[in-house]
Amino acid sequence: MKVLVTSAVGFCSGVRRAVEQSIKHAIPGRTFTLGPLIHNPQVVQFLERQGVLARERLESFKSGELLIIPAQGITKAFLELAQQRRVAILDTTCPELTRTRNLMMKSAAEGYQIAFLGDPGHAETESLLSFVPDAILIPSSNLASTIAWTKKVAVFAQSTQTLEALQSLSQVVLAKTDELRIFNTICQATRRRQESLRRLLPKVRTLVVVGGLNSANTQRLAEMGKSAGKKVCHVETAEDLDPRWLDSDMPIGVTSGASTPIEVVREVVAQLEQFSVFGEKTQKN
Ligand code: SF4
Repeated sequence: MKVLVTSAVGFCSGVRRAVEQSIKHAIPGRTFTLGPLIHNPQVVQFLERQGVLARERLESFKSGELLIIPAQGITKAFLELAQQRRVAILDTTCPELTRTRNLMMKSAAEGYQIAFLGDPGHAETESLLSFVPDAILIPSSNLASTIAWTKKVAVFAQSTQTLEALQSLSQVVLAKTDELRIFNTICQATRRRQESLRRLLPKVRTLVVVGGLNSANTQRLAEMGKSAGKKVCHVETAEDLDPRWLDSDMPIGVTSGASTPIEVVREVVAQLEQFSVFGEKTQKN
């Protein structure tokens, strides 16, 4: 049995930047993130050992401490509160999200009603919508048909959405408005990962998705596998693997989320190869 790995694995540029900057600027005992820096428990534990701790409440920050804004950004209200409390700030918000935020604010200022395709409660969604308070959050395109859209609408998507979901939402809104702007704000890293997975899926029956169970982009990869009729096994580390998943002669596929370290993917592949009866070589797809 072969193990086929998608070509896009390891940290995306936004996550790598956030992790590297946090480690570089960490002052042990005085450096905190608001919530996890990224959605990967193993990396969060690693950062704790480097002196970067996660806090849940901004109210517990004191003057002189360093607040690291995570790659997904924070809400406008939290940002203003941090500034009031004179907390030092290291902003590692991904540049792709800063660009999306600026485009959303510009369209809103130009009179467009903003439709945002995103996961309710996700840090990225909450951060972006806090800067555009009248934006309408659409968790799924079906819900868009029940909304009375104005004459000018601009559609945006969370960076981890799929192109199919953005197209579907845009079609629904187009039928109910006079003017439609569509911004493909699915980030380049997500697009590359999804395209690479689309090429791999026809060749496998089982797909192992490696990444944080709380990671939106990792969950989206798992959903793509399920929609294609594959058996999907979502694991955080090699320890979660089960040899009984290797139940066919077809190759097994491996992909990973944008916040999964490449080392963890390598460990998963090595473990799958050990499970394999024939031990054939892994191929990049
Ligand atoms: S997944 Fe995309 S938007 Fe999110 S941090 Fe990575 S590059 Fe930035």
